[in-house]
Amino acid sequence: MKALNFFVKKDACGGCRLCEVACSFYKTNSCKPSASAISILNNPVRGIPTPAFTPDCDCKDGEEECIKFCPKKVIQYVPDDKIAEYMCSPDWTSCIILPSQK
Ligand code: SF4
Ligand code: SF4
Repeated sequence: MKALNFFVKKDACGGCRLCEVACSFYKTNSCKPSASAISILNNPVRGIPTPAFTPDCDCKDGEEECIKFCPKKVIQYVPDDKIAEYMCSPDWTSCIILPSQK
């Protein structure tokens, strides 16, 4: 599942939701954030926005629209052989996985 390879820069998301819009254009060719495979949640403990992904995430590697449009470079796609390194980093956290929207 591609979504397991996303890491999120800690405390960096500004909650603009451009990633949701970009994904919805990729998915539906229209502005329909409810059809997006990424959603911005408010962290219930710290009260800050953070991206979460569904298993419906399916852009080709290197062509992730959410990454391209994020103005704060919050999202990183991490290949399998680098996951352990990111898991140990104080700057990045593994992403939240949501249920499929389908
Ligand atoms: S990688 Fe593609 S499908 Fe997945 S959340 Fe980003 S824009 Fe949507
Ligand atoms: S991940 Fe980036 S594009 Fe998405 S809401 Fe946060 S700052 Fe905006």
